[in-house]
Amino acid sequence: MRLASLSSGSSGNSIYVGSDTTHILVDAGCSRKRIVEGLSKLDLSLDDIDAIFVTHEHSDHIASLHTILKKYDIPVFATKGTIQGIRISDKKGEMVSSEFHEIRADERLTVKDLTINPITIMHDALEPVAYRISCGDKKVGIATDLGCYNDYTVDNLRNMDAILIEANHDVRMLQTGPYPYMLKKRILGDKGHLSNEKSGELLCRILHDNLKGILLGHLSKENNLPELAYETVRVEIEMGENPYHGNDFPIIVAERNTLSPVIEV
Ligand SMILES: [Zn+2]
Ligand SMILES: [Zn+2]
Repeated sequence: MRLASLSSGSSGNSIYVGSDTTHILVDAGCSRKRIVEGLSKLDLSLDDIDAIFVTHEHSDHIASLHTILKKYDIPVFATKGTIQGIRISDKKGEMVSSEFHEIRADERLTVKDLTINPITIMHDALEPVAYRISCGDKKVGIATDLGCYNDYTVDNLRNMDAILIEANHDVRMLQTGPYPYMLKKRILGDKGHLSNEKSGELLCRILHDNLKGILLGHLSKENNLPELAYETVRVEIEMGENPYHGNDFPIIVAERNTLSPVIEV
């Protein structure tokens, strides 16, 4: 399996996950051009994409869904709430209903040789999910846009071979930064976003010997820095109650506007 971020951050998210024969996108929140460019570096095009799985209806996760569906006949999978949310934002009613397939958290489905498990997460959207995606005995986790996590989240993200996890903000940068009070409160809340520290803490609970790579994603442009996210997560692993050191796992910060390094498992 391969995992790579095509674009990551508050301005647009799209993640590629695939096997030799099956290729999916999780979210299409950056421009179609960016997705096409990223896929081409993976020797793929949108014609190769078998399905798009949406995490939730916020525009940084669905912005180019409409322009993609206008040109490509790709099935879109999302929870009932997320589909409702997409419809609300699709004011002109341009997206055809037959392209949307309803999924439920904790009910796995297959797309060719990939098995996809949606996982409930806490975020201020109608019915957001994270995903666990497997092919044979290989597993990849994608957990972005979550304000908090619990034992259920940890149980569902255990034993991944690779993971993309949100490291949205540095708490101090957010608190002292320019955002209005209500927005700060929202981001810091249980239905907001994972801070660098929380991201590291969650990782500490799911680390294991065979984890091949960690992609840190959805970094805030205003309230985070790539080096800070990397270093904070590394320190959390070093200091956390686990047998590991901060340098035991490759940690990659997914860039805003370009294809990340590819993690192969
Ligand atoms: Zn969101
Ligand atoms: Zn987002």
